[in-house]
Amino acid sequence: MRVAIIGSGPSGFYAAEALLKRTDAVVHVDMFDRLPTPYGLVRGGVAPDHQNIKAVTRVYERTAARPTFRFFGNVRLGTDITVDDLRRHYHQIVYAVGNEADRRLGIPGEGIPRCTPATVFIGWYNGHPDYRHAKIDLSVSRVVVVGNGNVALDAARILLRTPAELEKTDIAAHALDALRDSRVREVFILGRRGPEQASFTAAELEELGEMEDAEPIVAPSELAGLVIPEAARNKQQQRILKILQSFATRQANVKSRKLHLRFLLSPTEIFGGPDGGVSGLILEKNRLEVQADGTVTVRGTGETEVLDIGMVLPAIGFSAERIAGVPYDEKARIVANEDGRVIDPVTRSVVPNEYVVGWARTGPQGLIGSHKAASAHVVAHMITDGAGLATRVLPDRDAIINVLHRQGVQIVSFDDWKQLDDVEMARGVRRDAPRDKIVDVEAMLAILGQH
Ligand SMILES: Cc1cc2nc3c(=O)[nH]c(=O)nc-3n(C[C@H](O)[C@H](O)[C@H](O)COP(=O)(O)OP(=O)(O)OC[C@H]3O[C@@H](n4cnc5c(N)ncnc54)[C@H](O)[C@@H]3O)c2cc1C
Repeated sequence: MRVAIIGSGPSGFYAAEALLKRTDAVVHVDMFDRLPTPYGLVRGGVAPDHQNIKAVTRVYERTAARPTFRFFGNVRLGTDITVDDLRRHYHQIVYAVGNEADRRLGIPGEGIPRCTPATVFIGWYNGHPDYRHAKIDLSVSRVVVVGNGNVALDAARILLRTPAELEKTDIAAHALDALRDSRVREVFILGRRGPEQASFTAAELEELGEMEDAEPIVAPSELAGLVIPEAARNKQQQRILKILQSFATRQANVKSRKLHLRFLLSPTEIFGGPDGGVSGLILEKNRLEVQADGTVTVRGTGETEVLDIGMVLPAIGFSAERIAGVPYDEKARIVANEDGRVIDPVTRSVVPNEYVVGWARTGPQGLIGSHKAASAHVVAHMITDGAGLATRVLPDRDAIINVLHRQGVQIVSFDDWKQLDDVEMARGVRRDAPRDKIVDVEAMLAILGQH
């Protein structure tokens, strides 16, 4: 049985693991990634001050070491290889391409310089090659992060950490240099809804109280508009409220950098200043309404407030990129699917032998660990649907390499990646960091050329 997996993030690796562990069939897995480096958001999204979370890549390394696994890095589906190529060379295809586009606020002023999607800021500090040249101007003192998920907290934390806290991490060297000179001293995190509806986790919230030179600030009034009866709150909500209450009562002005957590506010307009960049934000206050079925909805009150700030980072969610030949669900902004089986979005009929896992299947929900069971669930469908498929004769297993060579692609194998990994780790020793990332695909390929 031959399977192509597109994307080497957690969901792709967990799908590979489940396929390679099959005892009823020999499965050959070829994993493709558009980058020369594997691991998706574990490398390009997870915050540099969360090094322990990145240790999960050791599990993926074990999967990659299996003899029936091959990695084809630096290969982009849609340009370097097509869906038709994959259909010719594999019995089954798994899309594990994540959510690489960001959601927009859709308000006036979003295009003004220093209004930067969190994807760009996060990619920039994590050394993602797409964002190495992003213009991140940290000469301003006050920044707003719009959104109430873990991504918003990550962005705020990285803006407020001290250089000493960051230099021992794998943050990209260009970002470390810029953050050393940063004038940012105050960050506001804005939630459209209340603290009970926040999507960040208690553990990430708690961390905001443990920064070296930054303190969280929560005005008691921010906790006044709770709508869920105490007995009906789940554990996560209880923990979040407890932490926010502790922030509201802690002694202020102990640390020099401030992180304000504010709720029930929606930006309605961003405006620019004399230098052409963001200088402020108009916010509308919201109120919550509990419906008869218990759901909570948000309504604008019409009451507004102006916040003087120099940068806006919207962190309000992600969506899957459209890839030529891959059916797309315009409404949910994911690969069109029913429980992981790819479908035609119009007729809703199943596209045979094609599957989707991870964020590309569900949208941006779930932590890394959650993909293990979720990808295994889709692999179970693949096993059910795939009975008898392996009798279909395919071109030689190496023929795909010729296809890529004809396209002029310089393939990066898993051994090649291990060489880059060694180079990055050796470079990291200089600043006592786990690694100093190479952020440029050309530079990666040049290093591999020399070897
Ligand atoms: C900023 C941020 C911080 C996070 N922090 C944490 C955390 O601390 N802890 C935690 O548990 N979870 C965290 N998460 C969530 C976690 O990263 C995701 O749950 C997980 O990475 C999703 O896995 P995935 O495989 O679906 O997608 P991804 O990890 O995004 O992997 C997708 C892969 O597909 C590749 N790809 C895309 N398009 C193509 C194409 N056309 N051709 C070839 N390859 C392609 C990409 O290069 C990428 O390698 C964070 C997420 C974000 C955004």
